[in-house]
Amino acid sequence: MTMKPEVAIIGGGISGLTAAYALDRAGVPFTLIEASSRWGGRILTDHAQGFLLEGGPDSLFAQKTKGLELCRELGLEDHLIPSREPRTVYVLKRGRLHALPPGLAAGAPQDVPAFLRSRLFSWPGKLRMGLEPLVPRRRDGADESIATFFRRRLGREALALLGDPLLAGIHAGDPERLSLGTNMPVLSDLERRSGSLSRGLASRGGHAGGPLFYTLRKGLHEMVDALVRRLPPARLRAGTPVHALVRDGDGYEVQLEHGGSLRAGHVILAVPAPVGSRILASLDLDTAAWLLSIPFAPTATVLLGYRREDVTHPLDGHGLLIPRGEGLRTTACSFVSTKFAYRVPEGHVLLRGFIGGVRDPEALSLGEQGLLSTVERELTPILGLRAAPVVTRVFTWPQSMPQMETGHRERMAALDHRLEQWPGLTLIGAGLRGTGIPDAVADGLRAAEQVAGRTPAVASMT
Ligand SMILES: Cc1cc2nc3c(=O)[nH]c(=O)nc-3n(C[C@H](O)[C@H](O)[C@H](O)COP(=O)(O)OP(=O)(O)OC[C@H]3O[C@@H](n4cnc5c(N)ncnc54)[C@H](O)[C@@H]3O)c2cc1C
Repeated sequence: MTMKPEVAIIGGGISGLTAAYALDRAGVPFTLIEASSRWGGRILTDHAQGFLLEGGPDSLFAQKTKGLELCRELGLEDHLIPSREPRTVYVLKRGRLHALPPGLAAGAPQDVPAFLRSRLFSWPGKLRMGLEPLVPRRRDGADESIATFFRRRLGREALALLGDPLLAGIHAGDPERLSLGTNMPVLSDLERRSGSLSRGLASRGGHAGGPLFYTLRKGLHEMVDALVRRLPPARLRAGTPVHALVRDGDGYEVQLEHGGSLRAGHVILAVPAPVGSRILASLDLDTAAWLLSIPFAPTATVLLGYRREDVTHPLDGHGLLIPRGEGLRTTACSFVSTKFAYRVPEGHVLLRGFIGGVRDPEALSLGEQGLLSTVERELTPILGLRAAPVVTRVFTWPQSMPQMETGHRERMAALDHRLEQWPGLTLIGAGLRGTGIPDAVADGLRAAEQVAGRTPAVASMT
């Protein structure tokens, strides 16, 4: 007598793990199938010589609470650490760093005198941003690109020096193509409700206080480890890539790449969209094509650990952004050891450079050594790096950052409609309903809730 899995979850990143955890708590039998021998997908924490090195994500955005709630539920409350002050972000302009006036990234300056003193923006640029409350509210409710929104409400200079590098840094993307409604819904909501970003922020009681980000003391992989520890080992199948999904009676047959298959009444597909497209190709070519239409940008993170005295810049902030007009390949750099505690040994600092993205898709062809030397060479004059790093590490992500482009929400609704013909099949994960860990966690919980509502909490036997 063998246990027949009722639910197959394909993909053991944070979205698949969360779905598994929620199903387990609901008493619904499942099998979680992961291609790699390592759980966690893009969440990858490493260590070297006392440095804590995050290859993928390194922080949980405080305003999106699902990731934090999951950490607390997993008993990691005491391990959550907030990002530290100062939270200054620098922007490179003609080779010099300028602090971004506080609050501007949220839509309006928090400190008007500091904004007026800033040398990052020209006087005409500041004046144009100051006119933002007078710009008529857009009324048609249609989606638009982030670039169009910035040009319309804040002007071209705000786009070039703020919107563009911010989006390249966070999403490795191009604001001319990225959807405002799905990537920065807070900004479209402020305009819709109050007619202006500054009025909207003021009516909300100003800028949100408290830490901007959280992370886990021993790295974000703590979250993954805690989830895996709570799941019954018999339900976990790592090192098992899924090849295809086909219909089998009123359920599905999950075909494994190295032979064999599983039968499942429900399938939660929690793999990156391009992989999902391959897996679904034999089931539904239209859905497969839809998934393939979500662009994924390649990126690399380059970690550089230095002795404190070998970095001239005070690193008094969360990091720096490099607008494309500067002609460099590095798009951004986090001052990791300032942003979070417990990342470096005494007397050291840690930088994390980003390179690649939709604008520089060839970057990964530089190879690890080329990526490392490019980022190190470009940051040297900017931060005053005076000696070689004591620790280096490069993580490459060929399909790292999903790009939710304009019209994404409408296309997502069309996909959901199409999926109605495949009862018991749920698609989750980065690039569908969000791009960060909190979105992936929310997606995993939602999928588990849907499935648990349809599945008896008792294993069937064959
Ligand atoms: C460099 C970088 C920095 C980031 N920074 C942040 C950040 O600071 N904060 C934040 O919130 N988010 C950040 N993100 C985004 C975040 O990492 C993702 O949103 C999240 O990890 C996605 O989780 P997921 O489960 O959807 O996908 P994944 O983590 O990609 O998991 C998918 C899983 O599916 C598995 N798989 C693939 N193919 C198969 C197959 N054929 N069969 C079975 N399994 C398969 C993979 O091995 C993987 O484990 C960052 C991402 C990157 C790359």
